[in-house]
Amino acid sequence: MEAARPPAMAGTFVVVGGGIAGVTCAEQLAIQFPSEEILLVTASPVIKAVTNFKQVSKVLEEFDVEEQPSTMLENRFPNIKVIESEVKQLKSEEHCILTEDGSQHVYKKLCLCAGAKPKLICEGNPYVLGIRDTDSAQEFQKQLTKAKRIMIIGNGGIALELAYEIEGCEVIWAIKDKAIGNTFFDAGAAEFLTSKLIAEKPEAKIAHKRTRYTIEGRKKEAEAKADASHIGSALGPDWHEGLNLKGTKEFSRKIHIETMCEVKKIYLQKEFRLSKKNSLNFPRDHHNQSVTTDKELWPVYVELTNEKIYGCDFIVSATGVTPNVEPFLCGNKFDLGEDGGLKVDAHMRTSLPDVYAAGDVCSAAWQPSSFWQQRFLFQMRLWTQARQMGWYAAKCMAAATLGDSIDMDFSFELFAHVTKFFNYKVVLLGKYNAQSLGSDHELMLRCTRGQEYIKVVMQNGRMMGAVLIGETDLEETFENLILNQMNLSSYGEDLLDPNIDIEDYFD
Ligand code: FAD
Repeated sequence: MEAARPPAMAGTFVVVGGGIAGVTCAEQLAIQFPSEEILLVTASPVIKAVTNFKQVSKVLEEFDVEEQPSTMLENRFPNIKVIESEVKQLKSEEHCILTEDGSQHVYKKLCLCAGAKPKLICEGNPYVLGIRDTDSAQEFQKQLTKAKRIMIIGNGGIALELAYEIEGCEVIWAIKDKAIGNTFFDAGAAEFLTSKLIAEKPEAKIAHKRTRYTIEGRKKEAEAKADASHIGSALGPDWHEGLNLKGTKEFSRKIHIETMCEVKKIYLQKEFRLSKKNSLNFPRDHHNQSVTTDKELWPVYVELTNEKIYGCDFIVSATGVTPNVEPFLCGNKFDLGEDGGLKVDAHMRTSLPDVYAAGDVCSAAWQPSSFWQQRFLFQMRLWTQARQMGWYAAKCMAAATLGDSIDMDFSFELFAHVTKFFNYKVVLLGKYNAQSLGSDHELMLRCTRGQEYIKVVMQNGRMMGAVLIGETDLEETFENLILNQMNLSSYGEDLLDPNIDIEDYFD
C-alpha cells in the first residue's frame, strides 16, 4: 500500500474531526511544528481533550476526556486553528478539502479522523434509536423517562452498559450470541457478569469516573442544538454518568435476555394489529421462560428470528458502528477495509498520497509481522486506540515531512484496554479471547463469584492474552509476561494460585 509521493505542496497540516483521534493528532503536530499553523476542521461545536493522562503500565493507560470549547484548544496551542464546519468533499488530486461554509483548505498532509456512526438495524424509524454522541444519549434519556418497556438489540459495550444501568423499565435484550458481551468476553466471563446483572442493583455505586464533561462544553453544545444537524464525536467510558437512566416504573432492574436471535421484522402499532399476530408478555422470572400473550398496545413491535414477538416503547440499536467515510469518497479511490473504514498501513497512510487516517474512521491493515511486535494487536474501535492512533498518525506525518524514518509505536505491540462493566474493573490484554490462535491453546481460570474473574490464554507454555475482571492487581505482571513471552510451563496451575503472590514471583 505504499502510496506514490507527489511533489511537496504548499498548504498546511489539516486534521478533520474534533474527537480524541483528531485532537490528539492536531496537538502532536502542533508540538512537532511549533512555527506552522495546524488546521483542525470539525463538524462538532465542542472538541474532545484528553486530560490527566496516566501511563498505568508499559501499555495500559488511563485518562479523562473533557468536552471543551475549541477556544480552549487554541489557547493551549496557539498554532492550532479550529474551523467549525463539516467537510463536504475531499479533492485529493488538488490536495484540498471543501467545507460546508463554502471555504476551501489546501493541505500538504491531511489526517481524516471523522469517527463512525451507529449502525442502526433500520434507518428512518422514529422508534429505533442509536447512541453515539451527547445529543443522542440525551434523546435516549428523554424517551426513557416515558417508557415502560424497551428493547436493546446488540451485544457490544453500549448494550452491556445499558442493560446494567437502566432502572424502572422492563428491558428485553436480544443478542445473536449464546452469551452476553461476546465482543469482550467468553462464556465464562459472561456468566460471571450475568449473575451480577440479574442480582438487585446496589444503592450506591463505587465512585470511579474516567470521563468528565465540562459545563462550558455542555453549554456550547446546547447552544449548537439550534443547528441540529451537527455530527458530534463519540462518547466513551461512563457516557451515562450524569444521565438519569430511569423509566416510568418504581422497580430497579428488570431484564430478560433473548439469546441467539436477531431482529426479523419491526412493526409499527397499526401494522402489527393488521398482522393479527400475538406479542408476548415480559417473562416473569429468569428461569421460567413461559410467557403469555400481551394484551397491552405498544408503539412498536419486534419480531425476532426465534419467532418471539415483543411490544415496547422504543428500540435501542446497539449493533456496532459504521466508519464515517462518505464525505471523502466522492471522486477518490480509497482502499476500504471489510468494515467500510479507510484502510491504513503501518504508517497510518491511506491509499491516497498525503492522506492519513486515525481512530474509528480507519481500518487498520497492518501486516502481522513475523517477529513479536504486533503479534498481540488487533483493532477495536475504542477510545484508547483512537488516542494512540491520532498520536502515532501525527508522528508519521511529521516523519514523512522531515524525511525521517519511524518505527511502529510501542503502544501498538499489545492490545490493552481497561474499562468498567457492571461496576467491575475490566482489563483486556493481548489475545484475550484467543483471537486467531485456533484450537492450539489452553485456558486457565480463576473465579471468585461476585468478586473476580481471571482468565489467561496460554500457547506452548507462553501467555498470549488475559481477561481480568475485578480488582485483581495482576495487569502489570501479566502484561510483562505476554510481552516477554517467558516459558511458564513449569509454573503450571501455580500461575493463578491465589495463595501465591505472582507479582513477587516474577519480579
Ligand atoms: P469521534 O469521537 O466520533 O470523533 C469524530 C469527529 O469527527 C467528531 O468531532 C465529528 O464532529 C467529526 N466529523 C465527522 N464527520 C465530519 C465531517 N464530515 N467534517 C468534519 N468533521 C467531521 N470506547 C472505549 O474505549 N471505552 C468505552 O467505554 C466506550 N464507550 C462508548 C460508549 C458510547 C455510547 C459510544 C458511542 C462509544 C464508546 N466508546 C468507548 C468508543 C469511543 O468513544 C470511540 O472509539 C472514540 O471516541 C473514537 O474517537 P474518534 O476520534 O475516532 O471519533
